[in-house]
Amino acid sequence: MTQTDGYPAGTSPVAAGDRVADVGERALIARILDRLPASPDWVVVGPGDDAAVLEPARNRLEVLSCDALVEGVHFDRAFVAPADIGHRALAVNLSDLAAMGAEPRAALLSLALPATLPLSDVDALVDGLLALAARHRVHLVGGNITRSPGPLVADVTVIGSAGRRRVLRRAGAQPGDEVYLSGEIGAAVVGLESLRAGVAGEPGEGPDGLAACQARYRRPEPRVRLGLLLARNRAATACMDLSDGLADAATQVAQASGTGMVLDAAAGPVHAAARRWFERQAVDPLRAALSGGDDYELLFTVRPRLRRRLGAARRQAGELRLTRVGVVTAEPAVRVRHEDGREEPVPAGFAHFR
Ligand SMILES: [Mg+2]
Repeated sequence: MTQTDGYPAGTSPVAAGDRVADVGERALIARILDRLPASPDWVVVGPGDDAAVLEPARNRLEVLSCDALVEGVHFDRAFVAPADIGHRALAVNLSDLAAMGAEPRAALLSLALPATLPLSDVDALVDGLLALAARHRVHLVGGNITRSPGPLVADVTVIGSAGRRRVLRRAGAQPGDEVYLSGEIGAAVVGLESLRAGVAGEPGEGPDGLAACQARYRRPEPRVRLGLLLARNRAATACMDLSDGLADAATQVAQASGTGMVLDAAAGPVHAAARRWFERQAVDPLRAALSGGDDYELLFTVRPRLRRRLGAARRQAGELRLTRVGVVTAEPAVRVRHEDGREEPVPAGFAHFR
């Protein structure tokens, strides 16, 4: 959002059918600036200059991350609404900050927009992002807009802060630590599959239904509060978010920590509707949920003697379910243990270039 000087304040009126090509970059930027709430004091220079200037949080470390959503790779506009794209673009980034135990503060938004995109879609995308930002007290402090000759791209950078000795990393798990998972798995991948197949949920089926899975896919809920709680009371020894599935996260944490893991098949908190969906297709629900991505839950490890700290975090986390799903082992392999005692290697997670 560089260079807005000289542009009249207020969004210029546009006709309902207007598209990105019908207005200039500056008019697009003005539409975004119009939607922003007032900046806090620590935003020294906000949107509208060549760069944003932030005052660092006192005695805190900066935590930064970026992640892009590319149309055709991460979403399909046929069944993901513009507001969902905005929400997702920020949510996946907040999830990474949550996994580090960081408190989010600011975001930058870089958009590459097809010229034929309706202006109302741009507005909705920004509004979807800003609604989630407001809930987590994140301020959009800058960005960029460019035209895309192909897909829509929403690239977000987030900036957060964490206490010096409170950062959660993937490395840190030790043999004997217990492995925990927030929420449920499998919902997002079934949400995506059912949206692709054009299957709708039943009316009134509630949080265990297919519509809930689709909502989980379209609007993932980053576990920012849990990440902060785990970091603040140092309950967790290692942590990672589940962008590419439980199997992938378990493997990454184990590798970073120089350990292995055994996941308990019976404990896997697979979403009820996801379980039914997989069973109807004669697919092993746990196996599918382990390798399915987009859940954005947190996987973390806890030293058994620090379990009381976890209890405190659990009480403060409210409704969020935390399930013990396994144990960290010295032997460097990640396996699933079935109820009959049989063990097998975890299935591979979602890989972007496969
Ligand atoms: Mg991550």
